[in-house]
Amino acid sequence: MARVLITSGPTRQYLDPVRYLTNASSGRMGKALAEAMLAAGHQVVIVSGPVEVEYPPAAEVASVVSTEEMLSACRELFPACDGLIGVAAPCDYRPVRVAEGKIQKTGQPLELHLIETPDVVATLGAEKKPGQWLVGFALETDDQRLRALAKLEKKSCDLMVLNGPQAMNAPTNEVELLDKQGQVIAVFRGNKEDVARGIVGVIAERLIERGTRNAERGTEEV
Ligand code: C5P
Repeated sequence: MARVLITSGPTRQYLDPVRYLTNASSGRMGKALAEAMLAAGHQVVIVSGPVEVEYPPAAEVASVVSTEEMLSACRELFPACDGLIGVAAPCDYRPVRVAEGKIQKTGQPLELHLIETPDVVATLGAEKKPGQWLVGFALETDDQRLRALAKLEKKSCDLMVLNGPQAMNAPTNEVELLDKQGQVIAVFRGNKEDVARGIVGVIAERLIERGTRNAERGTEEV
């Protein structure tokens, strides 16, 4: 049995007390992956941004708002986990300065100065212990496989799940799973529950069971 951390949903970066940057991630794919992992007999810990979906009661859920909060919750929880599925869509930018009061309209254009937020998966990938595995998600519109493979390397992932923009906030999905060599090792399409079961099957076979065998032998495969 493995203990799996799943990041899920969007994050928010506030500009002032009432306005924020975010994206259309619903948390549905994270919920479906959590259900499939639990059904396969594993433990699930979810770190989620604000979502409407209800996660399975058997999962431990840590709710966060911003990308920085998602990262710090994950850094606390990941050391006790065997692997990570990074399906969240953390907001990539934050304002340099968050206004203390509501920004007032002036009739003039408003310029925002944004800087990048930390990358949760890349940070955990750089800090991972031997035997821990990471699965990332890449949502690409152009040069899909090339960009997904570049992200797999940059974020120290073992597998990358590639999907298109039609996955956002939709009931269905179509994904390709890429390994470290850039090979497409599986393709799943259908509703997110079926796709999640497919992804969990590959993770179980390639990362969880193989990890257990390696631990028993005292070796680590690359
Ligand atoms: O946004 P991007 O396409 O780079 O996302 C690829 C992967 O990185 C996803 O698994 C996503 O959850 C993760 N990510 C992250 N923190 C960010 C941006 C992306 O963990 N700030």
